[in-house]
Amino acid sequence: MPWFSYREGVLHAEGVPLSAIAKAVGTPAYVYSVAALTDRYTALSEAFAGLPALIAYAVKANGNLAVLRHLGSLGAGADVVSAGEMQLALKAGIAPNKIIFAGVGKTADEMRAALRAGNTGILQFNVESEPELHLLSQVATELGVVAPIAIRINPDIDAKTHKKITTGKAENKFGIPIARAREIYAEAMKLPGIKPLAVHVHIGSQLTDLAPYDATFARLADLVRELRADGVPLARIDLGGGLGIRYDGETAPDPRAYADLVRKHIAPLGCELALEPGRFIVGNAGLLLCGVTYVKQADAKRFLILDAGMNDLIRPALYEAHHGIVSVAEPAADAVYAPADVVGPVCETGDTFAEERPLPPMQAGDLLAILSAGAYSAAMASTYNARPLAPEVLVHGDRFAIVRRRPTIEDMTVLETQPTWLDKAAS
Ligand SMILES: *Cc1c(COP(=O)(O)O)cnc(C)c1O
Repeated sequence: MPWFSYREGVLHAEGVPLSAIAKAVGTPAYVYSVAALTDRYTALSEAFAGLPALIAYAVKANGNLAVLRHLGSLGAGADVVSAGEMQLALKAGIAPNKIIFAGVGKTADEMRAALRAGNTGILQFNVESEPELHLLSQVATELGVVAPIAIRINPDIDAKTHKKITTGKAENKFGIPIARAREIYAEAMKLPGIKPLAVHVHIGSQLTDLAPYDATFARLADLVRELRADGVPLARIDLGGGLGIRYDGETAPDPRAYADLVRKHIAPLGCELALEPGRFIVGNAGLLLCGVTYVKQADAKRFLILDAGMNDLIRPALYEAHHGIVSVAEPAADAVYAPADVVGPVCETGDTFAEERPLPPMQAGDLLAILSAGAYSAAMASTYNARPLAPEVLVHGDRFAIVRRRPTIEDMTVLETQPTWLDKAAS
């Protein structure tokens, strides 16, 4: 990753030494590169050059407002899965007519908020079930508006990714089985307050093999032709996200090869397109900068105990995910690498970032970077063990700025109140 590299013996984010960020901000801290965000967004938009494609960035991957604002200024729309994410996108300056609302559990309140956003309402709801379709019809009718919708089709394709991030198999909770699609569109056509104008698929995340897309797009194209023959006025095809990145030597798919599949199957249908990439854009654009608190030698094992924990980055615990881990000080050319278990301070055995990872000699006080931590990392953090959320830092050239500061214990307890009867309850 060219955005994070050693210069003069220190790992840099673009032109900024990570040691300088650690000194100014403390550790742990997330560090994101503007150049990386721009590069990945542009690689995708250039791959789709000539096609009418909206890149609706999946906010759930990383909802930091500065990240959203930058992607929005490059032209990105937003794919959101809650009213909260919609508000983040709007706050970051993304126009309502570039926002797509997905998710299996949209509430009536969330539907109202999305139908009213910016007076015009959002671009599209991706409806995941019949009960949702009926509720949306009711809510839109009450407001006297029409909800533009796609129905999320579950194509029953194995995305060949980790089972916790595969979403397009028949047994997953997402979408409507493809065999029932025509029936549900026919129903949607009759409902008041509903305008079916799009179809949607999203088969999973971190796909490194394009074959499942090939199969999905072929199935989807057939379905679009059938729906059109049924009289459904389809104007947009939403292909979801899922493009994988390199964490551990995988070959990440080339966005141009992905776009070629779209050209082959989908472009001939003459529809507008929407894409919902999350990880592809932000995953490799960030890292988690941490400090070594202790080096503990136990029998044959070396433990590096970090000041970052599973509350900061849960992917290894949740998905057995691999993240590269490197020393911020460039190891000497003749440094001897030895296995280490890299763990956090949280009181859980699952608080492990890596086992038996070959690493150079490290001492307490040294800095490490956990790589590829731009997606589903800060976004999934919690304050378990009353640990403050790690701050987020954005780097641009030789400048950096704190775009989310580290909360104080006051910030962390500001929502709590003590009932007046509590003191008396003890007596
Ligand atoms: C999570 C999600 C995405 C983004 O997935 P990535 O793998 O990060 O690209 C896109 N669309 C939907 C519906 C999602 O749930």
